[in-house]
Amino acid sequence: MVQRPTLLIVDDEQSIREFIHEIFKDQYDILQAADGTDALVMLESEETIDVVLLDIMMPGLDGFEVLEILQSNPHLAHLRVIMLSAKSDVDSKVRAFAAGAVDFVNKPFEVGELAARLNTQARLSRADAELKQAKSDAESANRAKSEFLANMSHEIRTPLNAIIGMSELLTTTPLDVTQRDYVDIIETSGNALLFLINDILDYSKIEAGMLELHPLRFVLQECVQGALDLVKNKAWEKQLRLTVELDPSLPREFVGDDHRLRQIIVNLVSNAVKFTERGSIALALTGQEASSSPALLGGATAAGGLEAERVYRLVLTVRDTGVGIPREAQSRLFQKFTQVDASTTRRYGGTGLGLAICRRLSELMGGSIDVESAGVPGLGSTFRCTWSMPAVRQGQATESGSDSVSSGRALVVEDRAVRDPAVTPALDLDPPTDPPPRLRILLAEDNPINQMVALKLLKHLGLQADIVNNGAEAVEAVRQNVYDVILMDVQMPELDGISASRQIRQLPPSHRQPRIIALTANATADDRQACLDAGMNDFATKPIRMEKLVELLHQGAFGDPVRSA
Ligand code: ADP
Repeated sequence: MVQRPTLLIVDDEQSIREFIHEIFKDQYDILQAADGTDALVMLESEETIDVVLLDIMMPGLDGFEVLEILQSNPHLAHLRVIMLSAKSDVDSKVRAFAAGAVDFVNKPFEVGELAARLNTQARLSRADAELKQAKSDAESANRAKSEFLANMSHEIRTPLNAIIGMSELLTTTPLDVTQRDYVDIIETSGNALLFLINDILDYSKIEAGMLELHPLRFVLQECVQGALDLVKNKAWEKQLRLTVELDPSLPREFVGDDHRLRQIIVNLVSNAVKFTERGSIALALTGQEASSSPALLGGATAAGGLEAERVYRLVLTVRDTGVGIPREAQSRLFQKFTQVDASTTRRYGGTGLGLAICRRLSELMGGSIDVESAGVPGLGSTFRCTWSMPAVRQGQATESGSDSVSSGRALVVEDRAVRDPAVTPALDLDPPTDPPPRLRILLAEDNPINQMVALKLLKHLGLQADIVNNGAEAVEAVRQNVYDVILMDVQMPELDGISASRQIRQLPPSHRQPRIIALTANATADDRQACLDAGMNDFATKPIRMEKLVELLHQGAFGDPVRSA
């Protein structure tokens, strides 16, 4: 049964209150107050009052003063107040509406008119309440969904670690042509799934307002090259010409989140490849000095550890000769889950998340993204993404030693534009020519499949490891033995990797301190910080790749092992 609306009558004349009560008692639950103060006390304590009938002339607080107090209280400002007054001058009415009243009825009133006006306000009050409830329900459902997405992608990445790791290892064993084909398919599908899951994780972070940038010093050309390395094979497979132009006047190094920049480039170029059957894809990166705004530098200067005073406005364009995008669909594309038409999913796959993520990332970097397309197949589309980034000052020492190594400033043209399909790219999975030194490694990991993957990868590098199943065992192992490196899973039963690292760092100086590398399926900035805060030295996201493992182990041999917790 629908609850009856509640009406509060505020009038100093008892006869009027009683009269109104008599008329409306069948439709409303009725409360009465004899003056403004009483009314305010009731309104504070009763949450369910739908409509207030408020007299103006009363001893103590008058109707206008009551309205003012209601308006200044966020919990009460939404109340629907109808003034009921003998004052019929326009000024009083204007003043009442200005103070927040929703209606004004003169005394003496027509019963039918008051009933109709009350009814209208009661209905609106109910609608307000329903909207508020619906908004709050939607917000909590949305939060639950974001959490669910983040949890699911985390859960899915763990077994995916095993699938990708194992297929990578399989390609290093003797295989006949058919078997190699099968393994290639497993690897390609595993990687595609990983991309998808990463998109979902990013998207759920965007929803939860948790997507952040982590600015570091990087070489612009390497970032672009890294992105293209991930997509150029697909372009070659479709016999598409892929060209890249990097403005030669741009500085070599910038301070920004190169990982996210690479993600934008990969997304735009992958889309271009996906939606182009013949012709070319042209990527161009230009820019010019914008201003020296410290605000734009944000945490970048500190993170880069350098004084980076020139901010550049950068413009990336990705032009293709593909199917094009109808004009009416262009503005929608950057919204989540949006594709030009539903058949896109069936024909090309995809989630419709990529461009929404690109837009958010470019906004975070102080820029924007848009698209131009005549909507005619063959004439293609041009995506343009802008952002701001501080450049590293010329002459400051670079990692490679000197600024004269300025290959990053040259014009880069991907000259192997059309790949000869007869030439298969060499699989770069041979043991590295420069193998990591003999390290004493402890692997702390509870999942048996992940243990096996890590052990096999290590074995492939000519290394072994002791295995423990949880953090407590890891601490004990460090007490008993000497290790150079611990590969430490973060989520483990009994004692997690973070607590274990803290305990290890607190062992007496007689124990040699190993480097601790967190291996985790969690990939948020907070997780990373938590690992470092606990005294770990480095952090790798699962599924760990051979290349990354080699890099980490090399650092393990030469880096500073101890971080204080
Ligand atoms: P997804 O590619 O996963 O569907 P995106 O957000 O990256 O998601 O793209 C959304 C949609 O925009 C695509 O499904 C496609 O309809 C359209 N689109 C994106 N890039 C291009 C392009 N270069 N040419 C034609 N259509 C494109």
